[in-house]
Amino acid sequence: ALFLDRVSHDFGKLRAVDGVEITVAAGEVVCLLGPSGCGKSTVLRLSAGLEALQQGRIAMRGQIVGDAATGRNMAPEHRQVGLVFQDFALFPHLTVAANVAFGLTALPAGERQERVREALAQVGMLDYAQTYPHALSGGQQQRVALARALAPRPALLLLDEPFSGLDARLREQIREDTVHLLKASGIATLLVTHDPEEAMFMADRIYLMRRGRVEQAGRPSDIYYRPLNAFVASFFSVVN
Ligand code: ATP
Ligand code: MG
Repeated sequence: ALFLDRVSHDFGKLRAVDGVEITVAAGEVVCLLGPSGCGKSTVLRLSAGLEALQQGRIAMRGQIVGDAATGRNMAPEHRQVGLVFQDFALFPHLTVAANVAFGLTALPAGERQERVREALAQVGMLDYAQTYPHALSGGQQQRVALARALAPRPALLLLDEPFSGLDARLREQIREDTVHLLKASGIATLLVTHDPEEAMFMADRIYLMRRGRVEQAGRPSDIYYRPLNAFVASFFSVVN
């Protein structure tokens, strides 16, 4: 569903992303893991089309959406991606239902309502449809943000540290719920995290980044038990 082909990105003199190749298949949860500043969010923003592509190509559903060589750069709203970022940024003046309906304006009212119900049911927030965001806990807001991303039925979900604002107990619960939800939905997911434990628990495959490059890619157990170098080994050493 997503293919990044030798993508690089510079901020001035800094090479933030350096020749990255990433694939995410339909139904797969892929974690982009690495220390702060290694380029994870930039990869996600490039995938979403929020950052203009400087080098490389990006394909989605077998179609080129970005190509630095030809200047092709499909607008974010045409890429069929759902986005959830760290600060979930629900609209404070809209109810939960209206927040989830936000990306569905092209649909007839009846269908829109049905989609909102479906998405809220998926994340267990149907009872809160008429509530305003300020009356929700962080975890509940997080789930609404996920429902809003899911409601348009995107082919690809891009999640940037979606659980980082939550306390440890809640984070574990929501991680688990989210994995089940994503597996059941069959959507391709690229999830950014700096937490190796989260990646071990959630990912079908992991790309571990360091200084803009992919240091190692593979299934969690492969990376954990067969690290290619000392950086990879030490990064996972905190996981039991
Ligand atoms: P974190 O885990 O802290 O969120 P990250 O892996 O998501 O880090 P990025 O946000 O992709 O890292 O940043 C990669 C590098 O690019 C960093 O060194 C950062 O300072 C730099 N950078 C990111 N965005 C910009 C920008 N708009 N202008 C200049 N430099 C930037
Ligand atoms: Mg980031």
